[in-house]
Amino acid sequence: MHADHYSDLIAALQRANSIILLSHIRPDGDAYGSTLGLGLSLIAQGKQVRIFNRDGLNNLYHFLPRAELIEKTPEQLPPADLIVALDTSTEDRLGLADSLKPAVGVPIDWNVDHHVSNTLYGKNQFIDPSQPATASIITDLIAEARWPLTAEIAASLYVGIMTDTGSFRYRGTSPRTFDQASLLVSKGADPAELAKHCYQSISLPRFKLMQHALAGLQFEFDGALAHTTLTVKDFTELGALPEDTEGIVEAGLTVSGTELSAFFELKPNDGLKVSLRSKGRINVSELAQEFGGGGHPGAAGIGFKTNGTASRELVLARLRKEFTK
Ligand code: AMP
Ligand code: MN
Ligand code: MN
Repeated sequence: MHADHYSDLIAALQRANSIILLSHIRPDGDAYGSTLGLGLSLIAQGKQVRIFNRDGLNNLYHFLPRAELIEKTPEQLPPADLIVALDTSTEDRLGLADSLKPAVGVPIDWNVDHHVSNTLYGKNQFIDPSQPATASIITDLIAEARWPLTAEIAASLYVGIMTDTGSFRYRGTSPRTFDQASLLVSKGADPAELAKHCYQSISLPRFKLMQHALAGLQFEFDGALAHTTLTVKDFTELGALPEDTEGIVEAGLTVSGTELSAFFELKPNDGLKVSLRSKGRINVSELAQEFGGGGHPGAAGIGFKTNGTASRELVLARLRKEFTK
């Protein structure tokens, strides 16, 4: 890493007094962890920071320090010197109201992300697909800039890295990742405590949803392809929330010999969300992009606003082709 790698982004943040941080819809630990980590470090320098997400704070991440700083994105963004999008591969996934869409003039000043499929929207970009989490990028940036790194900031960033690397198991986890984790733990992030919050604190409805999804898991091609589907009815009957699907698609990959796991979530009005995971041979980011989605080689997703039921069949047929060619 060159010494001046982060200098333009650091200078832009340094110059600004009021800063808005945005992250993607259906936020995960990295969306929350990277925005909160950067936000708290900027607040510690006396800056005015607002952290917005279309979905606000979900139930899974209430334990994050200062989580109350995460607000639902308003219809109109308040004035700010700088708007930064984090962990968000396409501007669509910022979930901004139509009136705020960049085409209508919302200026994303910096697009900071680690998705290889990032569409390079915004005025400036800092995209590093060699990092397994946006929180990894922010950890390096804060270290490089010698900005405040309190225990609260360290915990936020650690959660982003831990969740996006599947607890340091996925490809993309490198010596640098452990250096970052080491720094964050030395600054006060507590691995056992944060892991307990992320992996041993789920609600009963979420567990029942997982149970139901696992019971419906289907294996094809001698187990190489695993897939399961949940419907709107499943969620209402079990009392589960949209964020309760975390971990389902990964469960499909736990069987020896499974190469690709797909999770289909049928939404109201025949929408569909597809989650794809690969153990390595198949690049699911490329598959997802064929249907307008994106992500990483090992973890990707697709969203369909309409025709969900039919699209599920189309995607399944495409996935099967990977095993018949
Ligand atoms: P998920 O399956 O929702 O956990 O998403 C896995 C990865 O794919 C994440 O890195 C997402 O950012 C990305 N992803 C998910 N859905 C989409 C989508 N509709 N468009 C682009 N990227 C997506
Ligand atoms: Mn994310
Ligand atoms: Mn991420």
